Amino acid sequence: MRIAIASYGQETSSFSPVPTTLATFELYGLFEGQDILDKCRDVGSIGGFLQTMDAGIDWTPLPIVHGWAGASGALTAETLGYFADRIAAGLQQALPLDAVYFALHGAAVAEQAHDSEAYLLEIARNIIGDNVPIVASLDHHANLTQAMVQRIDALVAHRTQPHDQFDSGVLAAQLMLGIVRDGTKPTTAWRKIPLITHQEQFLTRSGPMQEWFDLARQMETRPGVLSASTLPMQPWLDVPEGGWAAAVVTNGDQALAETLADELADKAWDLRQAFCRQDSISPEAAVRKAMQMARGLVVLSDTGDSIWGGATGDSTTILAELIRQKVDKMVLLSLVDPQAVEVAILADVGATVTMLVGGKQDPTFGEPLEVTARVAAIGGGRLHVPLLGFESFDLGRAVLLEIGAIRLVLNQERGIGGNHPAVYEHFGIDVGDAHMVVLKTASNWQYYNEWISEVVRVDTPGGTTSHLEDLPWKHLPRPIYPLDEISDRGLAS
Ligand SMILES: [Zn+2]
Repeated sequence: MRIAIASYGQETSSFSPVPTTLATFELYGLFEGQDILDKCRDVGSIGGFLQTMDAGIDWTPLPIVHGWAGASGALTAETLGYFADRIAAGLQQALPLDAVYFALHGAAVAEQAHDSEAYLLEIARNIIGDNVPIVASLDHHANLTQAMVQRIDALVAHRTQPHDQFDSGVLAAQLMLGIVRDGTKPTTAWRKIPLITHQEQFLTRSGPMQEWFDLARQMETRPGVLSASTLPMQPWLDVPEGGWAAAVVTNGDQALAETLADELADKAWDLRQAFCRQDSISPEAAVRKAMQMARGLVVLSDTGDSIWGGATGDSTTILAELIRQKVDKMVLLSLVDPQAVEVAILADVGATVTMLVGGKQDPTFGEPLEVTARVAAIGGGRLHVPLLGFESFDLGRAVLLEIGAIRLVLNQERGIGGNHPAVYEHFGIDVGDAHMVVLKTASNWQYYNEWISEVVRVDTPGGTTSHLEDLPWKHLPRPIYPLDEISDRGLAS
């Protein structure tokens, strides 16, 4: 059994000024051929897929390309061109094939294609034809489109936020085994939902998102249902088919798939007001609240500057407030700022420098902040820590600055900002000593779980602002809730 494997993932923020290039992919790991099997066997969707297939069938994996780039602006034409060329050449070389597995994010825009996944799937179809099955796993923040669904035989999206990429690979392998080993005949029904909401209710372990996702899990226990996917699209994607979706794959029962897809879409629509509830509070109130907490670690979630939503990771809003309120308990914070890293390195360890930090990359929301800080240490480089399906990430060069009780790490590369304790620990900081940590994410603070006493969402400006109405939408289909008042989700798609 010959099965080709490719992964391609990036989450585009249409409002980010930072383009995505091959260098961006290389920061997280861009592999070809055998390297994919060597490096991904235990991590990410590819790892889940490989292990489940190994246990289920005698097969030959034919790894082609693996690339993930986190979240930022659209891909340059050259970057998508690289994946197109690798996939075309790799599939051609791998023929004859029994099936293909694509691990995709599903919300990546490129200069030449607003639906870059469909663009790559079309290239694959042109080589393998219509009869070789394609199974795809997706991030549930994907923007599912007609062109994607048409070219995929069976799909499944992440079941949780924070995501479990490995699990999605396992589910994709189960769909694959169904087709190539057990003779299932997948058929898909899907619905577009005219809905786009901020990310404050995106966690799946509580609230409306849990209710919606639980309904999909219930459906999957019904005979003949192969997968039920709920797709609350990430809210920074300004494309003509943008919006939430639901997709149900059954074993040959189109009528059942249609009924369940409608039911999932109806559920999301019924919950639309709950999905829009805002919990974040002003930076002033958030810092005050955190300082009043008896013990740490208090997470201040910098909602508007979420690195994993494509924001620039250099917003100074919370740093300015921490300085203004003269916090006297240890706070951990990181900013992306290659220029300031250079200034600090030139000044050297032990020096006190006054300089502008952050706020340089986002022309709409950014505002540099002048600080006087002591250069405490110089570090950085590639940190080997498994997270979000990667086995390592690269900070570039990094420096640790001290501003009173504030421990500010400046990174040359955006990497993962300070969203993993390793960023601070590699400077010798014990995270348990800190009272607060400012995280550039609105959902992924799980790496700090062992210390967290409280999470405070901060209503900050930035590329991932909760105020979607403030973003300059141009291509999104209208009307869409809640940007427009509509009462009927319609029967789109
Ligand atoms: Zn996601």
